Amino acid sequence: MKTVVLNLGCKVNQCECDSLLAGLKDLGHEVSCDLVPADNYIINTCAVTKEAERKSRQYVGKAKKLNPKAKIYVIGCAAEKNAEQFVGKDVTYVSGTAKKEQVLSFIEGVHIVPLPLAYEYMAEGETFRSRHFVKIEDGCNNYCAYCVIPYLRGSVRSRSVESIFNECKKAAEHTDEIVLTGINITCYGEDIGTSLSELIRHLAVLPVRVRLGSLEASIITEDFLSAVEEAGNVCPHFHLSLQSGSNAVLEAMARRYTTEEYYEKVELIRSRFPVAAITTDIIVGFPAEREEEFLETLAFAEKVAFSDIHVFPYSRRHGTAAYPLGALDPAVVKDRADRLIVLRDRLKRSYESAFVGSSLDVVVESTDGLFAEGYSENYIRVYLPDRDYPIGKKVTAYVEGERADGLVAR
Ligand code: SF4
Repeated sequence: MKTVVLNLGCKVNQCECDSLLAGLKDLGHEVSCDLVPADNYIINTCAVTKEAERKSRQYVGKAKKLNPKAKIYVIGCAAEKNAEQFVGKDVTYVSGTAKKEQVLSFIEGVHIVPLPLAYEYMAEGETFRSRHFVKIEDGCNNYCAYCVIPYLRGSVRSRSVESIFNECKKAAEHTDEIVLTGINITCYGEDIGTSLSELIRHLAVLPVRVRLGSLEASIITEDFLSAVEEAGNVCPHFHLSLQSGSNAVLEAMARRYTTEEYYEKVELIRSRFPVAAITTDIIVGFPAEREEEFLETLAFAEKVAFSDIHVFPYSRRHGTAAYPLGALDPAVVKDRADRLIVLRDRLKRSYESAFVGSSLDVVVESTDGLFAEGYSENYIRVYLPDRDYPIGKKVTAYVEGERADGLVAR
């Protein structure tokens, strides 16, 4: 029996897919993550944008084309948001974000399991990627005005420190980098009496570097940065979600900080880690964003000098607080995204070029016979002449120059 597991979403979905793949192997299935002919397809869907939801539906059609007799199991955020969109499309099973592992035992019917109150433990994945992603929590309590995720994933449920430690320890035998991921890892531990700082302190003994996933600015305190500094194995890379550089838009988005507060956090990071990478997410075209607020965002991004920006055109999601506000003209949104990308590229170049002539530790992700490539501790893509470097292992690279998408080293 061959089963394909397709992931459309975030790193949390990826971790869950790895667990499902391990469970399927235990059941004796031949497994794949590629769109290839198979008996079963499990599609772990995403609803973060309209486009992600559309792709989730599209995968059903693609799977059906490859094998019209295949059984298709749809799970995840898009199914939690609107299970009906998959019903009647030759889908065998539809379930939401809770108890994803039940897909392994279900064979038919529409089945939405109520969201759980505590962290749901899934089988540990057996696939250790070059950088291993470890899910540490699920859910979010923030309810930002544009975001549908808390409705789909529920409130914060944290995984125990012990369970995370054990997975990281196992991963450390295969890779030199683990990435702590979740829906909102800033809130890690608040439901089980611990915190991200505590977790970092526990992981400090492992012979592996630890990268933190997306953070909210509120987590940046002296205590948190001390935990990072004392651990000695946490990457100097802080992905601090911004979303807008305008206080009016931040308020309309129900974000919980002002640009002034955010900037203080940036300064605090730089006072302890002067060359750390500070990356971010910015949404352009939120309905409350006029040209003048967008210009504030450009100016603020320039002031922070982000080393990378993930630019997201606003996607209006049913059921969110911002939904009734409508949406801006798509041409305006595209124009703003393009302008922010131009700034992003300039800031990225300027940050990266400062490392020419210095050494970086690169965890090799892939090799193609010509070049090996991977990310440095401060999240710069680095290319090395291929020397059969072992995938997932750290090499010290001397940076000699730049290229369009990163640095070149030896
Ligand atoms: Fe969504 Fe805001 Fe929670 Fe992030 S913090 S998952 S944007 S509600």
